[in-house]
Amino acid sequence: MANLRFLRGYNDAVVLGLARRGEPMTRVELAERSGLTPQAVSKIVSRLIADGLLVDSGRRNVGVGKPRTLVRLVSSSRVALGAAVERDELRVVLADLSGAVVDRTVVALPRDFGPEVFVEELAKLVDVLLARNEVSDERLLGVGIGFVGPLDHRDGVVHDATGLVGWHDVPLRDLAAERLGLSVVVDKDTNTAMIAEAWRRGDELRHAALVIVGTGVGVGLLLDGQVHRGARTNAGEYGHTTIQLGGPRCACGRSGCVEIVHNLALAADDLKGAVTVLGMAVAGLVQLLDLDHVVLGGRVVQSAPDVYADGIREVVREQVPRSDWLEVDISVSPLGDDLVAAGAAMLVLSEFYSQRGP
Ligand SMILES: [Zn+2]
Repeated sequence: MANLRFLRGYNDAVVLGLARRGEPMTRVELAERSGLTPQAVSKIVSRLIADGLLVDSGRRNVGVGKPRTLVRLVSSSRVALGAAVERDELRVVLADLSGAVVDRTVVALPRDFGPEVFVEELAKLVDVLLARNEVSDERLLGVGIGFVGPLDHRDGVVHDATGLVGWHDVPLRDLAAERLGLSVVVDKDTNTAMIAEAWRRGDELRHAALVIVGTGVGVGLLLDGQVHRGARTNAGEYGHTTIQLGGPRCACGRSGCVEIVHNLALAADDLKGAVTVLGMAVAGLVQLLDLDHVVLGGRVVQSAPDVYADGIREVVREQVPRSDWLEVDISVSPLGDDLVAAGAAMLVLSEFYSQRGP
């Protein structure tokens, strides 16, 4: 759980959530949009101003009567940290209350790093960011970690991180929380990446897949506006769907998986072939789930963003029979290397904003 002690109940969270959507608003507008009474909103706004979360921000004339005071979110009033591992590298970002990444730091991880080494390196980077940005305890909401699955998001236990040695049933959330003395939340890297995009694009994104292509291929899903984690919070292992019967043996033990077929094509310098494999996989996802957005990210995509985006668009156009009302928007996330870590920070922020009162 993120540190929620700053908000006094659900209604405060609703008002703050409206304020984060952008433009300064009057108390009357906040009341209309929240469905709360103007008296209740007035009280909540006073409280949030006293806590430094909102601030008066000029006045607006509304015809007859006194001009109304506007309030806006103080983005810097609270921050969250987000961590991510990519192969041999640990990245930690600091995000403000609007979700903007304001600072970041990266360190190389030793080969076959275990949980203790990971947590120590994490603690060092957290200290660096907190010191550099002069973040006091009261301003820090918590730390999110986007990690390699399979893992259980609910109890923060990494079960068998694919490709990492010594990561079997590791209580990462509790280990990190104890070492850092902060509240920590753990989720699959593909889910935090999806959260980052969902946060950035708001209501526009409701039926989407986020495809990360790095060492492996993973998918985060947003269904009806909610991150879809599945029964054991491990949804999205789409890289290990068979795409070639009798195909090459994959690290997961099966053969012909999307991931191994894609990676072998890349290793053979067949970029077009690799992109086509992903395009076929994406076409399957789009049809299965009736998606209207597909977002691409990860190191490999970033090394050739246009080739991946254009190539996948082309395959989807060929493979998915559709008319103009079945448009699928395929794009590359602009968050770049920060994608997974930024989403991990936003996971903490989301818990802060969606707090449920007693
Ligand atoms: Zn596989």
